[in-house]
Amino acid sequence: MKIGFIGLGRMGEAMAANLLKAGHEVSVYNRSPAKADALVAAGAARAASIAEACQGEAVLTMLADDKAVEHVVLGDGAVLESLPMGALHISHSTISVALSERLAKAHAKAGQDYVAAPVFGRPEAAAAAKLFVVAAGAPEALARCVPLFEAMGQRTFVLSEQPEAANVVKLSGNLLIASVIEALGEAMALVGKAGIDKSEYLELLTSTLFGAPVYRTYGALIAEERFSPAGFAAPLGLKDVSLALAAGEALRVPLPLASLLRDRFLSLLAQGGEDLDWSAVGGLALRDSGQSGGKRA
Ligand code: NAP
Repeated sequence: MKIGFIGLGRMGEAMAANLLKAGHEVSVYNRSPAKADALVAAGAARAASIAEACQGEAVLTMLADDKAVEHVVLGDGAVLESLPMGALHISHSTISVALSERLAKAHAKAGQDYVAAPVFGRPEAAAAAKLFVVAAGAPEALARCVPLFEAMGQRTFVLSEQPEAANVVKLSGNLLIASVIEALGEAMALVGKAGIDKSEYLELLTSTLFGAPVYRTYGALIAEERFSPAGFAAPLGLKDVSLALAAGEALRVPLPLASLLRDRFLSLLAQGGEDLDWSAVGGLALRDSGQSGGKRA
């Protein structure tokens, strides 16, 4: 397919590279142009503007947050104004339910199709084309996404014809991951201070009742205090917990654990954690118990 890809950060660059490898004709755009260099060297076309990346059958966006998506999609000369009628916008970013609803309405009014398709998986999974895609939108639009999702992910879950359903599910998943990070941090602080080796403890956990990937991945990062370089940056973790709280508020669903996690992320960021991985929230319990928790690399 002839497509555009906007947002070549930790996730987007790897996703665009896999689309290229799968034989799609990809035009790439990033606010900081240098991040497109490697993809252009690998055969992508460099789009000089957002509008130039919108000349194909579909444009995929993988941007940091609501502000970035509003700018790139709804701003002057942006996706909404540039995408031809009948073309498709696939939004992979983790954004608010409210913004996804706005995008769906705006694209429908412009005669364009819109699919929300946030993903689970860190940059390593994106590079290995092993993402899990959580998709929602009109069935006909989703059908056109299949070859693209197959190039980037290991499995796609289609949830609903309402795009924002995918966003609420993605936010709920990140709330669960953040809860695991906090719980692992507290458990490791406890056993660590009692003199038990944290990596051996993790081996016990993951070999018995806690064999899920989320415990393996985050358990290792916390046990080794390997919070830098960030795969998923701490400010994006705060964003997702805050977006889950906003979705809960709109639906009248109290989320007490999310409220606690929001404060944990604020503590981390207040103490210089801006550039760390979000798993560094798991280091706070270590620090609070007088153990290190402050290792940076
Ligand atoms: P990232 O490395 O920080 O990249 C963010 C991207 O957004 C960059 O291309 C950045 O452009 C662009 N951007 C930010 N603000 C912008 C603005 N105002 N206007 C235009 N472009 C802007 O983030 P990431 O880790 O790839 O995450 C991208 C999205 O995927 C986020 O919604 C995140 O929550 C979600 N996600 C991440 C992971 C993960 O493990 N990393 C996993 C699943 C989902 P510049 O290069 O110019 O800054």
